[in-house]
Formats: sequence, structure tokens, C-alpha cells
Amino acid sequence: METIRRTKVVDLLKRDDFGAMVNVKGWVRTRRGSKQVNFIALNDGSTINNVQIVVDLANFDEEMLKQITTGACLSVNGELVKSVGAGQAAEIQAREIAVLGTCDNTYPLQKKGHSMEFLREIAHLRPRTNTFGAVFRIRHNMAIAIHKFFHERGFFYFHTPLITASDCEGAGQMFQVTTMNLYDLKKDENGSIIYDNDFFGKQASLTVSGQLEGELAATALGAIYTFGPTFRAENSNTPRHLAEFWMIEPEVAFNDINDNMDLAEEFIKYCVQWALDNCYDDVKFLNDMFDKGLIERLQGVLKESFVRLPYTEGIKILEEAVANGHKFEFPVYWGVDLASEHERYLVEEHFKRPVILTDYPKEIKAFYMKQNEDGKTVRAMDVLFPKIGEIIGGSEREENYDKLLARIQELGIPMKDMWWYLDTRKYGSCPHSGFGLGFERLLLFVTGMANIRDVIPFPRTPRNAEF
Ligand code: ATP
Ligand code: MN
Repeated sequence: METIRRTKVVDLLKRDDFGAMVNVKGWVRTRRGSKQVNFIALNDGSTINNVQIVVDLANFDEEMLKQITTGACLSVNGELVKSVGAGQAAEIQAREIAVLGTCDNTYPLQKKGHSMEFLREIAHLRPRTNTFGAVFRIRHNMAIAIHKFFHERGFFYFHTPLITASDCEGAGQMFQVTTMNLYDLKKDENGSIIYDNDFFGKQASLTVSGQLEGELAATALGAIYTFGPTFRAENSNTPRHLAEFWMIEPEVAFNDINDNMDLAEEFIKYCVQWALDNCYDDVKFLNDMFDKGLIERLQGVLKESFVRLPYTEGIKILEEAVANGHKFEFPVYWGVDLASEHERYLVEEHFKRPVILTDYPKEIKAFYMKQNEDGKTVRAMDVLFPKIGEIIGGSEREENYDKLLARIQELGIPMKDMWWYLDTRKYGSCPHSGFGLGFERLLLFVTGMANIRDVIPFPRTPRNAEF
């Protein structure tokens, strides 16, 4: 076979130098046609779109032709020609075909229309489907958008550790990291495990958030963000929770809660705009195949400014809804940690646009949030989105050493884990704020997928760590 430099399908479909000899490589999506001519839809993952290969059967070896089945990998040399059919402008009149990899009839993706549940069971192959190709191209693009957004605004990408000896949220949802022999654990006279001989010489876990270390950086570099994996051993089997997910956590010195809300709103809008500008083919595909309201919802979020509402006002609205006969699964009262159904009611039914809820009861929020004068609430902010509920959680941080220490002691958080964090308040303390955006929650919104397991290549959830 003649050596011609490979063109990616995404680039090939934009070309109009008809008559040129080209090479494409990719996987067969479909093959159809007559006894004389076959049409092969070839996809190489560079775009949702396939290139059509026109094959005059008489010109090719019969044994080779038999190997052109769905899923087979081909290298095709041919002439770029103007397409007569509808759809693409360009197609390829095949001159030479090499089968790089055959694909027999045990290939699970031969027929279309598999359920999402089935595709999760073959997560090693599902990137080959149109749907997951689209989702993972969008995933990449959103990661780029995030770095671009912060870089352009002078934020520094700061790497916080994945292994940690502090539990940021104090919620005990951590995966332990150990090299100890679990069959022969050394315990003291009280039955507590002795960690002296463990790898780190103390109990260590996978991080649930990079925030505490992010604060160290923000109070030195001014404005930073993290973007990395996060682990939570919460046993919540929901369409919005993963045991391993990616989080983006900006932290900014001198920002108060209002600056923090401005940043969150600008950031999300930037990401959504990016998806529409840079992933339109993929977004359009998902819109047409799964979620007819997707593009409209994305554009909707860009148009409107987000509602900003204190938690207490939000509770009033929900209580009124209950009084008017609306049925929630979980009860509503001041002090409750809102469930996703409550958040979605505010966003989808009441305001019909994104809502930033602020000033939550301190009991349901983390120890580091700045305490309000009322003694009851803290300067927290959750950004609530249609179909998702909470997409961002953040706050202005408590910068007062005494107040922060008092709260740490009140909650019984061991000081041995916290001394370095408190140093930020001891040496040149400053007001600062930040938030965490769950990358996969953003992707749920941007792709219209219904389950968070379908926006990460290899989901980790309770009882599932296959692949
Ligand atoms: P939720 O109430 O939905 O469990 P959270 O209050 O525990 O969220 P935070 O601790 O504030 O969430 O984390 C910040 C962000 O990280 C959330 O707004 C969400 O986007 C994302 N997030 C939190 N937990 C998960 C998870 N288990 N899987 C995927 N994303 C998550
Ligand atoms: Mn949670």
C-alpha cells in the first residue's frame, strides 16, 4: 500500500481540494450498499462525524472485503471527491484498503441502541459509541476551558496532595491509605490501631478536597485553583455521586462572599459558552439523541443572571410550596440540609433559573466557613442548577484566629491535624473565599446525561471498580 500521510477525519471533512489523494484510518461504523458499490462509514474519534468511503467492489480482493465488518480497523487510501449524497461535502473514493484489525461477530457494539446500563458494563468499549465519543470529547474541552479561564485571569494552578492526614470536611467519608498487614494489625490496650509502623507513621487517607492546602497557597500567591481527583467513601448510590470524581477549587485572597459569587457565575457561564462554541457538533448530537432541551438550557443559563438568595428565604419558599400542596420526599424546616429535590424545586419550578443560596445554618456546613453576626449562619454559598441541584459549594472563610479555633474545638477536630492550617490565620491573616465545582456535575449539565456514571470514563461507585 502506498504511504500517504494520514488525515484526521475532522480535518478531512473540511477539505475541498477534490482530486487529492488522501489517507484515513479509523473504525468501521456501518457498511451498506449493493453488489457493485459499498459505502463504509468510518470514524476515527476526532469528530462525531464519519467519513464515507465509497468502494467499487470489483476493484478489491474478495477475502479482504469480507473482513470489513462493523468495528474493524481500516487504513484507506483514496481520492477526495465531492459527495453527491446529502450530509457531508467530501467523501473518499477508495483506491487501496488495508484491514489493520479484524472484528468478529462477538463485538458487542454491532447494533445501535444499547441501554446506558449495558454500556456501563462494557465501559472498556463504550468510548467507541457516538454518545461516549461526544461526552469524552466534551470532557476534554471543558478541562481546557477551565485552565484557560483561570490562567487568563492570573490564577495559578496549584497541586494539592491526594494523600492526606487531615479530614477537610470532618465527615469521615475517607478512604484509608495503608501498607499495614490487615490480617495482623497491632492494637494498643484500648483496642485502637497503632499507626507508628504504617507507611506515613500515622493514619492517612485519600483527599476529599484540596481546599485547606489551597488556602495556604491563596494566602501566598493571591489567587489559585486546583483541578484534580477527589475521593469520597460516601455510600450514596445516586445519579450525582461518585466515589472518585474531579474537582476544581479556586481560592482567592481578599475576595468576600459577593466576589466569590461573581467568580462562580462568570466561571460557569464561561464553561457553558465554551461548550457551545467549541463542541457544537457533539452537543448538538446529544441534544438530538437524548435531551431535546439541552441546547436551550445551555443558552438559558447564559442569558440570565443567577438568583442570589439567603437560605432562610429559600426555606420560606419551600415551606410555602408544601403549604400549597407540593409533595417532597424529605421534610423542609429551617436547619435542614436541603435535598436535591428541594434545590431543584427552587431552580426549576420557582425561579426557573440558577440560584445561589447563601448564609446556611452553621450546623450543616464545614468548620472553616466565616461566621455571620447572627451567631447562627455562615457565609456559605451553594450554586444550584437545573436538573443537577448543587453544582458548586463554597464560602467566605473564617479568617479570625480565635473564632476559627473555637469552632475547631467545639467540633472536636484534633488540633494535631490542624496546626498548619491555623498558621494562615496567625501570620498575616486575610479575608479570602473559594469554592469547589464538581467537574462531573458540570459535565452532567453540559452533556445532558442523566447519570454521573456516564460522564467519567471509568466510574467508581459503591461495589464497582471494574476496568
Ligand atoms: P452533595 O450535597 O451533592 O453531596 P457536597 O455538599 O458534599 O455535595 P461539597 O463538599 O461542597 O459537596 O463539594 C463541592 C462540589 O463537589 C459539589 O458542589 C459537587 O459539585 C461536587 N461533589 C461533591 N460530592 C461529589 C460526589 N460524590 N461525586 C461527584 N461530585 C461531587
Ligand atoms: Mn456530599
